Amino acid sequence: MGNLSFHTLCVHAGTRIDPMTGGVNTPVYTSTSYPYLDTDVRPYPRYFNLPNQKAVIEKLIFLEGCDPDTTDGILFSSGMAAISTTLFGLLKSGDHAIFQRGLYGGTTHFINGWLERYGIEWSYPASGEPEAFEQAIRPSTRMVYIETPSNPLLGITDIEGIARIAKKHGLISVIDNTFASPVNQNPRLLGIDVVIHSATKYLGGHSDICAGAIIAPKEIAQPLYKMALNLGGSLNPETCYLLERSMKTLAIRVEKQNKNAMEVALFLAQHPGISRVFYPGLPSHPGHLIARKQMKGFSGMLSFELRSADPVKFQKSLKLIRPSMSLGGVDSIICSPVLTSHRNLTMEELDKEGITDKVLRLSTGIEDATDIIHDLKQALEMNPE
Ligand SMILES: *Cc1c(COP(=O)(O)O)cnc(C)c1O
Repeated sequence: MGNLSFHTLCVHAGTRIDPMTGGVNTPVYTSTSYPYLDTDVRPYPRYFNLPNQKAVIEKLIFLEGCDPDTTDGILFSSGMAAISTTLFGLLKSGDHAIFQRGLYGGTTHFINGWLERYGIEWSYPASGEPEAFEQAIRPSTRMVYIETPSNPLLGITDIEGIARIAKKHGLISVIDNTFASPVNQNPRLLGIDVVIHSATKYLGGHSDICAGAIIAPKEIAQPLYKMALNLGGSLNPETCYLLERSMKTLAIRVEKQNKNAMEVALFLAQHPGISRVFYPGLPSHPGHLIARKQMKGFSGMLSFELRSADPVKFQKSLKLIRPSMSLGGVDSIICSPVLTSHRNLTMEELDKEGITDKVLRLSTGIEDATDIIHDLKQALEMNPE
């Protein structure tokens, strides 16, 4: 399998051909009861070892450029289940972790709200530079955790730089790879230990699945698996099958989304009604050079700032692009970080990150770029001030 190329792996990797009929798709194995006599393999949904769970995770292992002989994965019922299992499975009382600033809102709430009661210490580095992570290391530090591109301004963290520092100091490195998807970025190949996905986003891709996943070397996956068994966030076989089906088209979807995002970014960058555009594919983006080094595509996500238009009126003037939450689906959607993902931040924190109420985040779908651009254009014209 490993010698096949990316689009082929999307279609074929992990598939459990129907043993009864030879049908080309993995059948949906609904049982929660399997025999235990004369067998070491004892499937059970919460053991994360049903054929449908294994089919998805094996596909993802291949898409992340890894080998199932040395790499394992766990499929969860949400991205947050993957994240909480990773933190609780790898950190214990007295340990210290370094988290990049500006993580996904749910991750930040979990860190700020729950780690302290379990005696886990953490800090945020002064900046996103690898040197700042190194300076934040203490004798008790066990983990560095990053997310790139980040939400909502598509900030880029130097993955190889972080992985190098983690290796040098014997720390486990973790990345949330949701925004990039395996189409655009394979962090295990850049030296990161644990790769997390919210499969609710690009892997699911149709805004109708909630799921999450972890990919890690076998020796790190083992304690994660033990914690996962206790937290119990496994995914049902029907949704596993939907996810497996979606991932067959992952590459063609994301490549189209990359292309659309680039066209939209170029249009917005020259529009007088827009004051700033945040897209790693633009040479003006501060992370452009690192993005070029570590990403295969610049992703389907971008953000921009309205110069003077009222952001709520602007969103209500859109006819095709829906103001709604989440991202990564085939439909283009727009959302205001200040009203959604970042509503719990103080004015000072928002200021520090450069997020104003005029910043909007666009998740480009797979429609034709001309129609997405036309919709943005007419909404800008309707809201000149
Ligand atoms: C959505 C998201 C999550 C959480 O995933 P859920 O499936 O909603 O639990 C984590 N990280 C990032 C970057 C996300 O966008």
